[in-house]
Amino acid sequence: MISNSLIELDRRHLVHPVTAYREHEKRGATVLTSASGIHVQDSTGKRYLDGFAGLWCVNAGYGQQSIVDAAAKQMAELPYATGYFGFSNEPAILLASQLAELAPGTLNHVYFALGGSDSVDSAVRFTQYYCNAIGKPEKRHFISLEMGYHGSSTTGAGLTALPAFHAGFNVPLPNQHKIPSHYSYRNPVGEDPQAIIAASVQALRDKVTALGGPDHVAAFICEPVQGSGGVLVPPKGWLPAMQAACRELDILFIIDEVITGFGRIGPLFGSEVESLEPDLMTVAKGLTSGYAPMGAVFLSDRIYDTIADHAGKNAVGHGFTYSAHPVSAAVGLATLRLYTEGGLLESGQHAGARLMSRLAELAGHPLVGEVRGISMLAGIEVVASKETRELFAPDVAIGARLATASLDNGVIFRAFANGTIGLAPSLNYTPDDIDELVARVKKSLDDVL
Ligand code: PLP
Repeated sequence: MISNSLIELDRRHLVHPVTAYREHEKRGATVLTSASGIHVQDSTGKRYLDGFAGLWCVNAGYGQQSIVDAAAKQMAELPYATGYFGFSNEPAILLASQLAELAPGTLNHVYFALGGSDSVDSAVRFTQYYCNAIGKPEKRHFISLEMGYHGSSTTGAGLTALPAFHAGFNVPLPNQHKIPSHYSYRNPVGEDPQAIIAASVQALRDKVTALGGPDHVAAFICEPVQGSGGVLVPPKGWLPAMQAACRELDILFIIDEVITGFGRIGPLFGSEVESLEPDLMTVAKGLTSGYAPMGAVFLSDRIYDTIADHAGKNAVGHGFTYSAHPVSAAVGLATLRLYTEGGLLESGQHAGARLMSRLAELAGHPLVGEVRGISMLAGIEVVASKETRELFAPDVAIGARLATASLDNGVIFRAFANGTIGLAPSLNYTPDDIDELVARVKKSLDDVL
């Protein structure tokens, strides 16, 4: 179908995620039609360097034949199998067991969902069940971080702290609470890492006290790096300190690795960077490299055994039609093989070191307030004044201008509304590809000067 009629049909009928509908209707969609390696192509034939791995998910890059073959084979052999009624399927069993082997601590039990939001919902549901099972039904409150993102389902959106996901909706829920982010560039306690860590631990303690004490709080959830909040990397030691505080307060520590899982910040799981051992862990995106929808929540031995023992002969009433979908699981297995045996983790680490060093050169750019990141996850905070750190006024629409400049320069990055640029290239970028990406980002910045 020719490009213009597709754009017209999109305008009339397709409701887009996290989009200003009327603005989108005016502008019209960029319709993507094909992809290969680290490039995508639109319906006009224009090619873009994808510096954001789709939506921080295509960690393996496009056109990985082993993933395509695994999906095709599974579709032909067994396109669907339910996990209800005692049924199971081979790819899901193998994927769960391999992931359990690789996951930190005692996270040996894997529940498969369809993406990140419902993985977070599932983590909340399992946590609720666990608290009831241990005889503490008043443990109902959940604490998350300002600037955090945990999806846009009703439960996830309430844990999320980004205003756009609350405006016009009835979230957060009454049992969902926030404490300040570790965001060091704009932290009221300053940029000293120890001061930030101490403030966060104290904020968690204070919040638990304000909610009536540990008997009223189920869990604290956070991302190893706050992605959608603008790629905010916590100071070294922050995550272990928060984990220790959770243990001391007797509340569960849930880590949301939907972005940081699968090589994005170096090792297979972001939790490995600081040897975390969360009670529950959510993943999605890189699990299947975006080739098929899938997410997962990992449960520690303690959580799983408590739930299983408590339920006894009764069903634990949580599950979806597409839990442990065999095609997604086959895709996950083929993708995991690329990380573990195909050299993808190592190439990502190599490219990540290059990305960090080349991006550091942009710190002197007149529009750049801060460059931050870890391995293949980076943020560039764009400011109106480097001295005062003042952001551009909303009517400047700096984010929209950067988005336009990026497409003009044949590159895709995330242009947040406040102007922050997010980068999350596929792990198969070569050092030369990284140089090309950074050059195009710089050109886009120059174009909006
Ligand atoms: N959690 C985190 C940390 C995320 O970054 C995201 C999505 O970006 C989600 C949850 C939600 O995942 P999904 O969009 O697959 O529902």
